[in-house]
Amino acid sequence: MQRDLSVLWHPCTQMKDHETLPLVPIRRGEGVWLEDFDGNRYLDAISSWWVNLFGHANPRINAALKAQLDELEHVILAGFSHQPVVELSERLVKLTPPGLQHCFYADNGSSAVEVALKMSFHYWRNLGQTRKTRFITLSNSYHGETLATLAVGDVALYKSTYEPLLMKAITVPSPDCYQREPGESCREVAERMFVHMEQALAQHADEVCAVIVEPLIQCAGSMRMYDPHYLTLLREACDRHGVHLIADEIAVGFGRTGTLFACEQAGISPDFMCLSKGLTGGYLPLSVVLTHHRIYQAFYDDYQKLTAFLHSHSYTGNPLACRAALATLDIFEQDHVIEANRALAQVMSEATAPLKDHPHVAEVRQHGMTLAVEMVKDKANRTPYPWQARRGLKVYQHALSRGALLRPLGNVCYLMPPYVITPEQIHFLAEVMREGIDLAVAD
Ligand SMILES: *Cc1c(COP(=O)(O)O)cnc(C)c1O
Repeated sequence: MQRDLSVLWHPCTQMKDHETLPLVPIRRGEGVWLEDFDGNRYLDAISSWWVNLFGHANPRINAALKAQLDELEHVILAGFSHQPVVELSERLVKLTPPGLQHCFYADNGSSAVEVALKMSFHYWRNLGQTRKTRFITLSNSYHGETLATLAVGDVALYKSTYEPLLMKAITVPSPDCYQREPGESCREVAERMFVHMEQALAQHADEVCAVIVEPLIQCAGSMRMYDPHYLTLLREACDRHGVHLIADEIAVGFGRTGTLFACEQAGISPDFMCLSKGLTGGYLPLSVVLTHHRIYQAFYDDYQKLTAFLHSHSYTGNPLACRAALATLDIFEQDHVIEANRALAQVMSEATAPLKDHPHVAEVRQHGMTLAVEMVKDKANRTPYPWQARRGLKVYQHALSRGALLRPLGNVCYLMPPYVITPEQIHFLAEVMREGIDLAVAD
């Protein structure tokens, strides 16, 4: 720990916190468990920041990687190709919603969003539509930490400091179902809130390249959820107004909402789909943007026309990462994971149901394998706790003492576990969460 703190600067961390909050150095992982140097084990309820799908040191993914390591660790993807990236692209084209047909790789989620933004802008430019320079985003959305992705995001904690550096997005109020009126359904909220999107599109379509959304769950935005109907309406409106739809499925893809991709629940195909996080089963950094043939075709011309998409990252389409992704897709297929997850999601729902009556819980919400519990100061009118009190941190600390890794977002505790978790382990997490919340709200 001491050596770490003298040379490292950790992500998303006020380093001064570590004067009182010990770091947790991890020696090994196995399945849902992480083990520290004293032999303490922690149940990884958040899949190590939403990336791990089938447990740590998964024997099948390990074997695939070991085999790949003896063949090819990396090669430039411009002018050259390799088997894992071709196989992965073929399989992603088959698995993703209809029409998505070309795969452009990058090496992390933010870079994939940047690729989608640039491609959309560049598509319109190649068509001579140079007025289209802006993007529409939803309030409370999150698309990464690089400057362009912060610009199309709306989480003030990460964004506001950098505001002077950012392009100006058009922000439309989110269809977040937590904001519903008494008696209103999530579908009704979606319809009511879509009016704002329709207005923004009608007003700005001629200067807008694309609308970017996180389908169904705004994960970094406190796991706020909305109805699939919003996406169906959005797809139709984007087509009508001549604007692209970018689906950022970096967090929700690969089964987190119950279906392999969240867009499936709305029966839509976006113009661009961004994938990362679970893509490699949580093993290695890799991301991809899928798009359809019409977009690809707008870049396809003689070199001298300068219409090509001249974007690259050094580790684009890394063979080891692609091999991990292929092993991950094999597991989905061989183990019928999406079907099996329905039972696990049901257990998550039942195990946390008693929390709905907790005097300081405003809502327990769920889309498939993602479940969130919103702590509030006053349940009747949903008054939030002031952020300064950091009540979520108390849940985190309690969970560590009980052998679980729960890492609340502000006052929202959530479960986003690896799919190899057992019903008993889900009940254990629900118990730890309940104890943590009791402690966090006690004063
Ligand atoms: C995590 C995340 C990103 C950014 O991915 P990184 O790999 O962390 O850059 C983008 N969009 C969403 C929805 C995410 O959850």
